[in-house]
Amino acid sequence: MPALSRAVRRKSEIIASADLPAFQTQLLGWFAGNKRDLDWRRTRDAYRVWISEIMLQQTRVAAVLPYYRRFLERFPTIDALARARPDAVLRSWAGLGYYSRARNLHRAAKEIVARHGGKFPRRIEDALALPGIGNYTAAAVLSIAYGEPHAVLDGNVARVLARLGAIRGDLRRPKRWRALGEVAKALLPTQAAPAAGAPAGGAGDWNQAMMELGATVCTPRAPRCAACPVARWCQAHALGIALRLPAPRRKPKPVRLVLTAAILLDAGGRTLLVRQNSDHSRLFSSLWQFPAVQGGRPEPKKLAGYLHSVFGIAEQMEALPTARHTVTFRRILLAPFLVRVANLPSPKLPAMRGARTPRLKEIERLPISSATKKIAASARAILSR
Ligand code: SF4
Repeated sequence: MPALSRAVRRKSEIIASADLPAFQTQLLGWFAGNKRDLDWRRTRDAYRVWISEIMLQQTRVAAVLPYYRRFLERFPTIDALARARPDAVLRSWAGLGYYSRARNLHRAAKEIVARHGGKFPRRIEDALALPGIGNYTAAAVLSIAYGEPHAVLDGNVARVLARLGAIRGDLRRPKRWRALGEVAKALLPTQAAPAAGAPAGGAGDWNQAMMELGATVCTPRAPRCAACPVARWCQAHALGIALRLPAPRRKPKPVRLVLTAAILLDAGGRTLLVRQNSDHSRLFSSLWQFPAVQGGRPEPKKLAGYLHSVFGIAEQMEALPTARHTVTFRRILLAPFLVRVANLPSPKLPAMRGARTPRLKEIERLPISSATKKIAASARAILSR
């Protein structure tokens, strides 16, 4: 066990420096022969790498793939993305969740065109100044696309490091997370960044190798130590505590809430969608949604009061089947009500500024959340009987 048998000089050294070259060679060799063939691994184009990294945040690879392909067909360059209408960008994102990612991408694309000539910046300070780009994304894009020597630290990498070094405690505590960042840096192969236009060097492959090891071998609940290319350097494996590391994080308690929504419907099959109209707007960012109120239980009276005060509507409400929806730690009950109206609210009302009145069966042409789709499906099921 080289890492255990030798004195480790600094806290950031979980692999003794004499063993580091062999460790790096072993992991990079494993990555070259075992990496998954993913679309974003076939390119070093910074724009494509950036899109993949943003989409992969909090989202599984399999879910990202079709979105990644469609998004790049629709917006093949940073320029095309910068020129797009916000609705078009959100529509391409609809279903992926965490919509602030799409809005930040769009804003960042405009800044890249305005300040960096349409090319993703190569300096880390410039990348970090863009909306929606933090340490992880900046390090991932710059290392993979340009070979810049920045080490990534995400959940997968942190888990691998914690096990390799038998690091105990909650990894997400700021001090420990910073220390892990230093550990990650200390492992990075030292190689000069390649010249502009040259293929990326070791840092990009190294970061991807660490992430791949965490995603496919050193997995959270069932690390496959017998198949691990770096098992001989792993302190948790040697101590028989791999399964106990990292220490579990305290999860936020699930929050239960009910969204009571109104599907207004006129004789022509048109409905009303609004934005930022009530206290639930933060849940679905600025996507189009049915008028709704939020509470701890279905609130038809509160909804009726809201429709009356904001849109002047006082028609009967018909309860529709409920549906369930989850957004991170929020467990949401969707309680839709059908409200048949002779006419949709007057476009002159202040609340109608920016509202949309599409046909119910065509609302998916607008950027809407999965929750709004479920509410619409509930209404369509009743209307088609
Ligand atoms: Fe993870 Fe096991 Fe490999 Fe250690 S030996 S890095 S615990 S898979």
